[in-house]
Amino acid sequence: MHENGDIDSGYRRIDSFNEETTNKMSEAYLDVLKGIGEDPTREGLLKTPERVAKAMQFLTHGYNLNPEEILMSAKFREEYQQMVIVKDIEVYSLCEHHMLPFIGKAHVAYIPDKHIVGLSKIPRVVDAYARRLQVQERLTTQIRDCIQETLRPLGVAVVIEAYHLCMQMRGVQKQHSITTTSAFTGEFEKDRTRSEFISLITKDHIR
Ligand SMILES: [Zn+2]
Repeated sequence: MHENGDIDSGYRRIDSFNEETTNKMSEAYLDVLKGIGEDPTREGLLKTPERVAKAMQFLTHGYNLNPEEILMSAKFREEYQQMVIVKDIEVYSLCEHHMLPFIGKAHVAYIPDKHIVGLSKIPRVVDAYARRLQVQERLTTQIRDCIQETLRPLGVAVVIEAYHLCMQMRGVQKQHSITTTSAFTGEFEKDRTRSEFISLITKDHIR
C-alpha cells in the first residue's frame, strides 16, 4: 500500500480567459440579473456578469484538459504489484441539472501491472473530470475508466463521497445527507480486495 499525504492538487488558476466567450457569457448573466429582478446598474453588480462569466469558465476548465494525457505524461514501468491508494482527494464539481456545486472527497486505488503513474497525476485526473458539468455517478466511472484504459492495471477502485448543494439549498429533506458512489474493475471486483480497500480508506489518517 502506498499513501500520498501531500497531494499536488493541480488546482492551478487559469488566468487567461477567452475574451469572446467572456463577453457572450457576461451578456447572458446580465439578463439573468434582470430576470431575478435585480438592478444590474447598481454599484455592487456592475462587474458581476463578467466575474460570473470568468468564474464559470474556471469551474468548468476540465473541458480543456485531457485526463489520458495527464496520466500518460507520468507513466513508468515498475514491477510493484501492491495496492496504491490516493485518498481524500478534494472534489469540486457542478451538477449538470442545476449547475450548483457538489463537493466532497474521492478515494482512488489501483493495483499496477507493469506500470505505475506519478501519484500527483491521480488528483489531476479527478479534477479534470470534476471541473465540468457532471453527475456524481458518471464522474466516478469516468475516473475509473480513464485509469483502467490508460494504465491497464490489475484493477481500479474509485469511491466518491459528496454533498450536493442542489439538495441542501432547495429544501429537500435529509439536507445533510452525503451521496456515496463507487466503481470497480478487475481485482477490486473480488470481495477480499474490495474490503481491504474500503477498510483502508475508512481508517483514521496517519498524518
Ligand atoms: Zn442538482
